[in-house]
Amino acid sequence: MPQTLVIKIGTSSLTQPETGSLALSTIASVVETLSQLRRQGHRVVLVSSGAVGVGCARLGLTERPKGIALKQAVAAVGQGRLIRVYDDLFTALQQPIAQVLLTRADLVQRTSYLNVEQTFQELFGLGVIPIVNENDTVAVDELKFGDNDTLSALVASLVNADWLFLLTDVDRLYSADPRRHPDAQPITLVNRLEELKELQVQVGDRGSNWGTGGMMTKISAAQIATGAGVRTVIMQGRSPHNIEKILQGQSIGTQFAPQPRPVSARKRWIAHGLVPAGTLYLDDGAVQAIRYAGKSLLAAGIIAIEGEFESQDAVVICDRDGTEIARGVVNYSHLELAQVKGQQSDAIADILGYPSPETVIHRDNLVVMGGDGR
Ligand code: GLU
Repeated sequence: MPQTLVIKIGTSSLTQPETGSLALSTIASVVETLSQLRRQGHRVVLVSSGAVGVGCARLGLTERPKGIALKQAVAAVGQGRLIRVYDDLFTALQQPIAQVLLTRADLVQRTSYLNVEQTFQELFGLGVIPIVNENDTVAVDELKFGDNDTLSALVASLVNADWLFLLTDVDRLYSADPRRHPDAQPITLVNRLEELKELQVQVGDRGSNWGTGGMMTKISAAQIATGAGVRTVIMQGRSPHNIEKILQGQSIGTQFAPQPRPVSARKRWIAHGLVPAGTLYLDDGAVQAIRYAGKSLLAAGIIAIEGEFESQDAVVICDRDGTEIARGVVNYSHLELAQVKGQQSDAIADILGYPSPETVIHRDNLVVMGGDGR
């Protein structure tokens, strides 16, 4: 059955660690594998880093630039080269590609989120493989995906993918860094992310010289993607043909089991398009009502608030221990909520002095994370 697959490859797999020049054989096998998957009828998206790395190699820079303007300039040089290489190789296999450059802001606006979603659907209809990267040249620091692991998870949510493959420089996740601990235990399947904490997996965050990620960003990408119902795999970037074997059921890499997916596109946008501006902490009763009974959030259940947000901003909703349970679009600003938290709904108008919505977050604007997707 045709499935939607998002494959993310990082700079550390695409370039030679010593010189920063392109790892052509790896790129060629990615191209072969993805073209083959496309021919089998799958919808395929490639999220590729490398703009900054390739730009550095092109300009003879020996270190990743630190300053923002220089990094953005270097990315502008590298992105064109990168796509040129992909297009040459994919064209050799008669596979059309597209360049899709996104900024975080493109997903925050509901209309542009929907536009991007429709563009992907059209590209799939045309049999094209979109190659996605952050639009590094225009992205501003406050609103950035930051790393392509996160970008790929958000894209997987956006296109409602079945699978997200994170290609990296280790073959799977281990209970400790295998480069330093030879007795580290391999992890093949993660059903719940809490299992990693129980196993005390040390993820570190030391990426390679050239990329920006590390295991930490991969695990948080897995959290986003599995929460959106996308099965996620961390696997060796130098062996992309393993993707086909994994689709045939082989246990390669570390697989993260998906949670039930949010049913509507709008809820996916609330969960993964919007950038939360604050956090609400709830008492146990409110957590139960939201998580298991699909109720709206009322002021009475809020015990604390954090951040400065306006009405209609997105917020993260946590239990009293700070574990995220949901996200939603709030009907009150942080200043209003500071006055009405813990109060019954019918007292709110008197406290604020003007008529006010009954719910703090209506259940239509509430997405239970990793829950039942109501
Ligand atoms: N967008 C960056 C680039 O193409 C990479 C970000 C990352 O490595 O995660 O160079």
